[in-house]
Amino acid sequence: MKYDYLIVGSGLFGATFAYRAKQTGKKCLVIDKRNHTGGNVYCENIEGINVHKYGAHIFHTSNKEVWDFVNSIVPFNRYTNSPVANYKGKLYNLPFNMNTFYQMWGVTTPAQAISKIEEQKQEALLALNGREPKNLEEQALILVGKDIFNILIKEYTEKQWGRKCTELPSFIIKRLPVRLIFDNNYFNDSYQGIPIGGYNKLIDGLLEGVECKTNIDFFNSEFRSWHNYAERFVYCGQLDEYFDNRLGKLDWRTVSFKTRIENTPNYQGNAVINYTSHDVPYTRVIEHKHFEMFGQAVYDNTKSVISEEYSTEYKSGMEPYYPVNDDRNNELADKYRQLTAQENNVIFGGRLAEYKYYDMAPIVEKVLKMEID
Ligand code: UDP
Repeated sequence: MKYDYLIVGSGLFGATFAYRAKQTGKKCLVIDKRNHTGGNVYCENIEGINVHKYGAHIFHTSNKEVWDFVNSIVPFNRYTNSPVANYKGKLYNLPFNMNTFYQMWGVTTPAQAISKIEEQKQEALLALNGREPKNLEEQALILVGKDIFNILIKEYTEKQWGRKCTELPSFIIKRLPVRLIFDNNYFNDSYQGIPIGGYNKLIDGLLEGVECKTNIDFFNSEFRSWHNYAERFVYCGQLDEYFDNRLGKLDWRTVSFKTRIENTPNYQGNAVINYTSHDVPYTRVIEHKHFEMFGQAVYDNTKSVISEEYSTEYKSGMEPYYPVNDDRNNELADKYRQLTAQENNVIFGGRLAEYKYYDMAPIVEKVLKMEID
C-alpha cells in the first residue's frame, strides 16, 4: 500500500492530523478540491494584507498544550478580538459588558447594571413560569433582558441564521460572555491571537513534508476507492455526501463576502464591526489589516481591504460554513453518525464531517488527543 493515510480535506483537522501522523512515521496523502490548502482558514494576500477569504478566524483557547502546539508551528501575535456593534448608527461594545450597559442604559457601576438586568430578567422569568428556556430567544431574555436582546441580538441572529430566534437552540447565544467589568475582550480564554504572517503559515507548517494534491474532488477521482491507496482514511468532507445523501440532505448556513480595497489606511478603526439591525443586509464588516497590523504599521500601508459578510441558506454548489442546529438537522445528523460507526478504518473529522459548530482550537485539541497508529 502506498500510504498509511489518505486524508480528504486540508483544513485544520486534516492538516493537524497529517502533521501528527508524519511525526509518528506515517506516510500520508492529503487531497483537497480547492486550488489551495487550508480549508476555511486560508488567506489571500491583497495589497500586502492577509485577507481571510472564508471569514474571519481568531484562534482562542484556554488549553496551554493546544496554544503551545500551534505556537510551535508559527508564533501568534497579540490580537484581541473586541468587535463593536452598530445598531442604526449607534455603537455598542461587545461582548455584553459594563461598556455596553453604559451605552445602553447610562449605568456607571456594576450594581446599577445588575439591577437593570435583574429587572428585565424577572420579566422574562415570569413569562417562562418555572420552565427552562427552550430556545435562543428565551435564553437571551433571561441572560441579558429585552433591551440588549432587541438591539444587539434579535435581528443580527435572524440575519445570520435565517430563522426566528424562537426556532434556534439556546447554546448559540451561550457562546457570548456577559461581564460586569469594563472589558471588551470577546473571549474568556487565556490565550488568543493570529499567526504572525497569517494562517497560511500555520497550515504550511503543519503540512511541511506531507504530500498534498489540490484541485482534486474526492468523489470524482480515483481516490474514491481509497482502499487501493491507503490503509486508512480520514474524511473531512460533508457528512451526508459521504453516504451519497441516502438519508436526506443536511442543511447548512453559508456566508458570502463582498471584498474591496479602500484608499485609506484605517477605514473603520476595528477588525470587526457587527451590523445588528435588519436595515443593513450584511451581518458584519471585516477590516483585515487590524488582525495583523498594530500601531504605526496600520498607517505604513496606505490601503485597506474590507469584506462585507452576507449570510444565506446553503444550496448545492456553495461553500458550507455552519451546521444548522434545528431539530430536523440534529436528528438527521445523528442518524448519519450512527452510519459512520460501521465504516471500518475511516475517521470523520472537523465541522463538515461531524456536522458540528466547532471553533478552531477544539479541532486541534481533538487531533492532539487522538491515538494515531
Ligand atoms: N450574536 C448576536 N449579536 C452579535 C454577535 C453575535 O446576537 O453582535 C449571536 C448570534 O446569534 C451569533 C452568536 O451570537 O450566531 C455567536 O456569535 P459568534 O460571533 O460567536 O459567531 P461566529 O463568529 O462563529 O459566526
